Amino acid sequence: MSAPTLVNYDEVLERFDPVLGLEVHVELSTATKMFCGCANEFGGEPNSRVCPTCLGLPGSLPVVNEEGVRSAMKIGLALNCEIVPWCRFARKNYFYPDMPKNFQTSQYDEPIAVNGWLDLELEDGSTFRVEIERAHMEEDTGKSLHVGGATGRIHGADYSLLDYNRAGVPLIEIVTKPIVGTGERAPQVARAYVTALRDLLRSLEVSDVRMDQGSLRCDANVSLMPRGTSEFGTRTETKNVNSLRSVERAVRYEMSRQAGVLLAGEAIVQETRHFDEASGTTSAGRRKETAEDYRYFPEPDLVPIEPSRQWVDELRATLPELPWQRRKRVQTEWALSDEELRDLVNAGALDLIAATVDAGAPSGEARSWWVSYLTQQANNRAVPLDELPITAAQVARVIELVASGELTNNLARQAVDGVLAGEGEPDEVVAARGLKVVSDDSALITAVDEALAAQPDVADKIRGGKVAAAGAIVGAVMKATRGQANAQRVRELILERCS
Ligand code: ADP
Ligand code: MG
Ligand code: ZN
Repeated sequence: MSAPTLVNYDEVLERFDPVLGLEVHVELSTATKMFCGCANEFGGEPNSRVCPTCLGLPGSLPVVNEEGVRSAMKIGLALNCEIVPWCRFARKNYFYPDMPKNFQTSQYDEPIAVNGWLDLELEDGSTFRVEIERAHMEEDTGKSLHVGGATGRIHGADYSLLDYNRAGVPLIEIVTKPIVGTGERAPQVARAYVTALRDLLRSLEVSDVRMDQGSLRCDANVSLMPRGTSEFGTRTETKNVNSLRSVERAVRYEMSRQAGVLLAGEAIVQETRHFDEASGTTSAGRRKETAEDYRYFPEPDLVPIEPSRQWVDELRATLPELPWQRRKRVQTEWALSDEELRDLVNAGALDLIAATVDAGAPSGEARSWWVSYLTQQANNRAVPLDELPITAAQVARVIELVASGELTNNLARQAVDGVLAGEGEPDEVVAARGLKVVSDDSALITAVDEALAAQPDVADKIRGGKVAAAGAIVGAVMKATRGQANAQRVRELILERCS
């Protein structure tokens, strides 16, 4: 197939308006799978967490996981959806080797939550509302491992291995209504939506929302319509885009590619596409099947779900503080301007700072650690701030050690380095690395005398009344004590010794 003609992004926008539709699958972190008692954990020895039910063996019967239903309802409520009074599961029939039952148990035309919305904060500070069509319950499939091919995909592989540990893991699929009116911000809106949804799900503690491990997966539907018209074009669905950045890139790429097809007078093929991280391009997958193809029918082995009003109200009352509520609260509590708040949100620091404050740190210190030293470390490692291997509680502990005088700022940075290097908790790093403030004056006096003796001309200046010259000696003492001295005390001692 010849390479697609890509249209320059500005020209795409001169000619077309994009329409988006985002489908996000989230794996719930319930203790057990959706319809059986097998443990729900990531990875593990292949096929070690399976039973007759999730393997679809004859005679086995599913039972709904109540915790899974509760999580689904919480998600629906947090997304401002209506929780329906009655719903049920259906069988979505198709064959795929990683799906041993030959059908997926999924909600089809009767989802548990419908008609919600999620407000996004964009980089420029504006708010964009995405309407949610539905959030429904289903189960995950197993995993195929294609061996022998160059790409790890099925094409060119010699054989495939199957692992059913993931088969039956509870999934919630959250589907947006068509998103119109984004214009040039379409890729940004797509990314901001998945980010906001991830933060929301994390605050609900229903999933560990790890895109890299597949517990949060996004399919991006994109179509274009000629500017000034309002009838949607044919869409493509780019599957399993595995990072926030990829969501943005995939949407942008599809817009440019589809514009090329349309401007050449050809038609968009309704199909799934695969996003390639390395090249940032999409390639054709399968032609899109329609709902009829799946021969959906109501699942006869499961009773319908009828959440009582009382249950819904109870769950609504137990929802934790949601990200936007937290934003409002901390803005007031920390007296932040809109701009300061936006900078913290854009830097991905706000939730981390808030969690550090919750763990007992003063907000000023918590802010300063996350936006300066830790942001620097994240940049050095080229990872997002929230993927640094340090927790808010650990940062709070380091701040506490500084406040109590046990660590200087310099030593505190070394303690943080140790935590980031996987050396354990802050206290363990402090002990193992011997990071202790030298507060014993006699040890400091020895170091001060040595430094004065090593730089006699500087010592003379200080004795002659040039107090500013003491800085050089302070520096030398700090170096000699590997930053373990209290600089203020060192200065006092220098002035005493030179008076
Ligand atoms: P499917 O079963 O094909 O995945 P869904 O209804 O689950 O269909 O999801 C389709 C997604 O695409 C929804 O978010 C929907 O709002 C969106 N969508 C529908 N039509 C279009 C279109 N023409 N262009 C872009 N997105 C669309
Ligand atoms: Mg879908
Ligand atoms: Zn099982």
